[in-house]
Amino acid sequence: MEPVGLYIHVPFCDGKCPYCDFFSLRGSEKTMDEYTECIVRELKKYKKEYPALQADTLYFGGGTPSLLGARRLCRILTVAKEAFGLENAEITLEANPDKSLKELFGQVRQAGVNRISLGLQSADERELHTLGRQHTAQQAAQAVADARDAGIAKVSLDLMLAVPGQTRQSLRNSIRFCLEAGVTHLSAYLLRVEERTAFWQQRQTLCLPDEEESARLYESACAQLEAGGLRQYEISNFAVPGCESRHNLKYWNLQPYLGFGPAAHSYFLGRRFYRTRSLRAFLNGEEPLPETDEEIPAGSFTEYAMLRLRLTEGLTEAGCRACFGSGIPEEVRRAARRYEAAGLTRTGPAGIQLTTQGFLVSSALLAELLFSDGNGQELA
Ligand code: SF4
Repeated sequence: MEPVGLYIHVPFCDGKCPYCDFFSLRGSEKTMDEYTECIVRELKKYKKEYPALQADTLYFGGGTPSLLGARRLCRILTVAKEAFGLENAEITLEANPDKSLKELFGQVRQAGVNRISLGLQSADERELHTLGRQHTAQQAAQAVADARDAGIAKVSLDLMLAVPGQTRQSLRNSIRFCLEAGVTHLSAYLLRVEERTAFWQQRQTLCLPDEEESARLYESACAQLEAGGLRQYEISNFAVPGCESRHNLKYWNLQPYLGFGPAAHSYFLGRRFYRTRSLRAFLNGEEPLPETDEEIPAGSFTEYAMLRLRLTEGLTEAGCRACFGSGIPEEVRRAARRYEAAGLTRTGPAGIQLTTQGFLVSSALLAELLFSDGNGQELA
């Protein structure tokens, strides 16, 4: 059985950032203890059901996993290792740099955490304030240094593009800040105002960059990061070569992963399933629900192609043959060639990739490549 990735959703945060629609809430010490024991039970349950199953990545995501504290994180890690081996695994902890993380990093390093992902979002104090972040850029720089001092060499920062009031210069400064901090990985997401957020209520008065300016911000971020040694490997992800997120690559390579905790998603044995956004339901032992998308069946070529085309490596002939026993379908190649002249795709005998321009219109472009009747439409 192929080793899986383990994702543990830690749904606790100190407050709610106005742009965030992840499932998170405030948790008391008692609730966090209950949650931890529930995760432990679930891990053991899978071990019992699939004794031979091994894992080679584990990702504590959230929420704010660092809020759980070393004792609970180490308890989960000990059980996960007993159950799934985690030999030479990549073990990531997401953390918020709003308080000192020095001691925590030292303790979780001992338990096997070897990668830290910090929510920076911006190095501009005004933008941090707009985003409701409770840390300064300096605290984030300190957290990067603390991770390294604890012996955790792989550090990633999250950065947000198209923040209200952001300029090309302020973004350039934020990226320079990340590069100077010496991180090995960076995720740069364009802000999307989602319905379940405070920003949604304020959307008429938010001074958001328009679509064209957002595109310019994205392009300049890609260029600056590449020049700074962080190579783009996915629409929103950049890394020093060799430091790509092994866990997240499983999502884009259609490899199996198991999600634990409320709102966590899984892809396992060819099936997709998820847990509802309810801590109470999770603590009460509610079973995960199947994901039903009749248009894109789990494990299908269409799903594989949609995920792979998020990667700069793209959809490869060899990858398709290895997964499905046949190469890239001719109609997909034909559709991709059609958008090459507009600078949205690159095609060749080895496969198909989206360009930076293609990434900017990826939703519409993927629909054209994978679902179109061949007539095409204007996307550029
Ligand atoms: S952005 Fe992160 S810290 Fe802020 S509410 Fe969402 S999960 Fe919590």
